[in-house]
Amino acid sequence: MNLKNIYGELGICSKVIDYCENIAESLKDRFYEIDKVAEYNQLKVVKAMQDAHTSAECMLETTGYGYNDIGRDTLEEVYAKVFHTEDALVRSQIICGTHALTVALFGNTRPGDEIFSPVGMPYDTLQEVLGVREARGSLKEYGVSFNYVDLLPDGSFDLEGIKNGINEKTKLVTIQRSRGYSDRHTLSVNEIAELIKYIRSIKSDVTIMVDNCYGEFIEELEPTDVGADMIVGSLIKNAGGGIAPVGGYIAGTKECVANAACRLAAPGLEKELGPSLGNNRLLYQGFFMGPQVAASAEKGAIFAANVYERLGFDVAPDSIEDRHDVIQAITFHNPQGVISFCRGIQRAAAVDAFAAPEPTKTPGYESEIIMAAGCFIQGSSIELSADGPLREPYTVFFQGGLTWYHSKLGVMMSLQQMIDDGFVKKEQLI
Ligand SMILES: *Cc1c(COP(=O)(O)O)cnc(C)c1O
Repeated sequence: MNLKNIYGELGICSKVIDYCENIAESLKDRFYEIDKVAEYNQLKVVKAMQDAHTSAECMLETTGYGYNDIGRDTLEEVYAKVFHTEDALVRSQIICGTHALTVALFGNTRPGDEIFSPVGMPYDTLQEVLGVREARGSLKEYGVSFNYVDLLPDGSFDLEGIKNGINEKTKLVTIQRSRGYSDRHTLSVNEIAELIKYIRSIKSDVTIMVDNCYGEFIEELEPTDVGADMIVGSLIKNAGGGIAPVGGYIAGTKECVANAACRLAAPGLEKELGPSLGNNRLLYQGFFMGPQVAASAEKGAIFAANVYERLGFDVAPDSIEDRHDVIQAITFHNPQGVISFCRGIQRAAAVDAFAAPEPTKTPGYESEIIMAAGCFIQGSSIELSADGPLREPYTVFFQGGLTWYHSKLGVMMSLQQMIDDGFVKKEQLI
């Protein structure tokens, strides 16, 4: 009863509360399975921290060049142990996921090489990095070409197209695990395993990179457990646990990591330099929290799918599918749906709840984007957030919530906003 009162005080009507509580109740068994994966991954991180001999000194900071930063070096060892790789580069000098991917791609290719994607066009911001959309300083300007094939209409790999797409110039294969803003499905680690095996059968020595954004800790295995040479991700998504204030990581073979490191810093400097400033503790603590936070976000995504599918909207993944990342797409076929949804998410934020998001042009993205993100850390999309490009078919991408309760509140508030805006009728809540 107290619960109902406080939802009411937050502006949620009793019909929405009852409708949503019923759905939450029905998801208990599924959430139990998610908790089991989170438990495993939590132990994996703790064990790696112990094995790497993480100590109180590791939480201290360095400045300037950052020589002998044992906190930074030990953290990189922890990442390498968790992802079962030879090495890792985990730095707050990496600004975001796009930057981490840029460092990995530039570092691991040379003029005349080709990059190939067997899973369709990469994420919007990568298109400028690659030079698919003209941009100053793109890989294309440096003589690195790009080629891709889409998945087949049924979502399977285009084996023939992949075979034809890989040639003597192909140096690096990039596999995006999460769907991003596209309409394909997110790949499971099993599917990635199958794809890597096939690619190696065509060209065994090609470098295989997986864009792991939003995928960390959702399964027990990561792409580096099934043959990827490196995985790349952002610390303001799953791996930073909502606590890392900035950063990105590249975990992989010694060769791949060294190639990336001399691009991030300078040739010859590689991993030696780079002050952790005051960030070591936050990066450790964020990684430690990562499994729990990813599980909370995943629960929120499943809850959203169930809430909106029952109202007749297209949701992907659907209400019962297995999950391989924390993203939930909901399609409204109408810009108002996207705007109302995002306003509702914003109203549920702990920070900036009073702001009303508006569609705007955003660097790196082609269409106007609306973003709801009342975040502790600017743009942190592992926190409760929603965004979508204002283009057909008007799909909103919902993700995050540092706790399941906050994610749940966000979904309930989005529904309330849809009702307040007349986009959903109360009578539909059955
Ligand atoms: C978020 C994301 C990126 C880019 O990360 P930013 O931190 O926004 O630069 C790249 N690829 C995928 C799949 C993503 O989800």
